[in-house]
Amino acid sequence: MQFEPVIGLEIHAQLLTDAKIFCGCSTKFGAPPNTHTCPVCLGMPGVLPVLNRKVVEFMIRMALATNCRLNRECNFARKNYFYPDLPKGYQISQYAAPPAEHGWVDVEINGGKKRIGITRIHMEEDAGKLMHDEHNPASYVDLNRTGVPLIEIVSDPDIRSAEEAAAYLRRLHETLVYLGICDGNMEEGSFRCDANVSLRPKGTEAFGTRAELKNMNSFRNVQRALEYEIKRQQYVLEGGGEVVQETRLWDDTAGVTHAMRGKEEAHDYRYFPDPDLVPVVIDDAWIAEIRSSLPELPLEKRERFVRDYQIPVYDAGVLTASRALADYYEEVVRLSGEPKIAANWVMGDVLRFLNEEKRDIRECPISPASLAGMIRLIQQGTISGKMAKEVSEAMYRSGKTPQAIIEEKGLVQITDEDALAKTIAEVIDKNPTQVSQYRGGREKVFGFFVGQVMKATQGKANPQLINDLLKKMLAG
Ligand code: ADP
Ligand code: MG
Ligand code: ZN
Repeated sequence: MQFEPVIGLEIHAQLLTDAKIFCGCSTKFGAPPNTHTCPVCLGMPGVLPVLNRKVVEFMIRMALATNCRLNRECNFARKNYFYPDLPKGYQISQYAAPPAEHGWVDVEINGGKKRIGITRIHMEEDAGKLMHDEHNPASYVDLNRTGVPLIEIVSDPDIRSAEEAAAYLRRLHETLVYLGICDGNMEEGSFRCDANVSLRPKGTEAFGTRAELKNMNSFRNVQRALEYEIKRQQYVLEGGGEVVQETRLWDDTAGVTHAMRGKEEAHDYRYFPDPDLVPVVIDDAWIAEIRSSLPELPLEKRERFVRDYQIPVYDAGVLTASRALADYYEEVVRLSGEPKIAANWVMGDVLRFLNEEKRDIRECPISPASLAGMIRLIQQGTISGKMAKEVSEAMYRSGKTPQAIIEEKGLVQITDEDALAKTIAEVIDKNPTQVSQYRGGREKVFGFFVGQVMKATQGKANPQLINDLLKKMLAG
């Protein structure tokens, strides 16, 4: 029997606000344990949470960017469960009335576009972190993360393969980062994904029983975990067994998922409206204001690059991978007036150097002005394409301007006709045999002369000029 995967993703994105969602504590990552805490986020009795307005604004930004319908009123609810990293014994989240629903994003898959529905987006607080030490029979709890704002983005079960899931995840990730509301750092847990997957016989409608996968901390691992889980469920179903509804943990090293616990149902959490927080009312004027301040989103930018700069779709995709990279590229284009050549240099040398050292474009030692300057020098014939390779590498290593490097290395291409003619005359004088061969009709000997002139000029002569002058002078 042929099975079809049905996948829905739940994404938790940490919001880039300075303060936590219900208190004034800092959200900065990496502080000494338990230093970013106060009675509110420690869950002391009698304290009162106060909603951070910025969190609502960031949620609205994402809702608008993903075509959601915004409800004008929403509530916070208590989600009750016991865990040592949750001092209050409940997490403040949203349940019955989410602020945003019925959205969608388009993802590019196999050269086409596919629309994936977004069920809902809501706001909630993060829990703390437990640390288990292998060498010390103790567990520690760090509550710095307790109360850090999150938005949870739940997709419709529209995804049909591991590859589509990864494409959807990338789309949401780049959108959050473009909007400036999440740093997108998966290793630090700023962007986390739980994947729900079930199989159904191809051609049928009803969904099968799903497993929920956790603990994947990269796009690649989400894809790998889903690929594994699809195979596992297929194996179970083909063997006449049943998939159980459960939460499974991805084991990166072993490349498998393990059952962790039975999946809890919503009623297990005893959700109820948080009596300490008033309903949130969002007015139209605020939404309009936020809408007008939204930046250009990745897909729009990509389409504009293809249209305005006449670069291939592939190039536009690479160059808009982050807002910073797109800004860098556009600055080089503005200063050089050469969109295609600029694309080649940015995607070629610049990204290669940065990738080799895992550096971000914002730390690139080659400024857009330097790269544009180098492109102009190539266009003017001052340096050859080959010399430019040397210049770009040196610019990256030293951060110097192309002019400074060219001077230091004596890299200027010889474009002075008189000087070059003199060198060519010398080469012709020194090689009478080859001259008579060439003049006798052996055109192949031309290459020999080009080589000799290149050698005499240490490769600095403009190849086109050599060709033109040699032809003229050899003709006698
Ligand atoms: P919970 O909060 O209990 O995990 P939700 O209703 O929020 O449940 O659904 C979580 C995710 O699981 C959603 O993205 C949804 O699209 C997806 N989903 C629901 N049912 C199935 C199913 N049978 N197979 C695959 N994914 C599913
Ligand atoms: Mg869920
Ligand atoms: Zn606090």
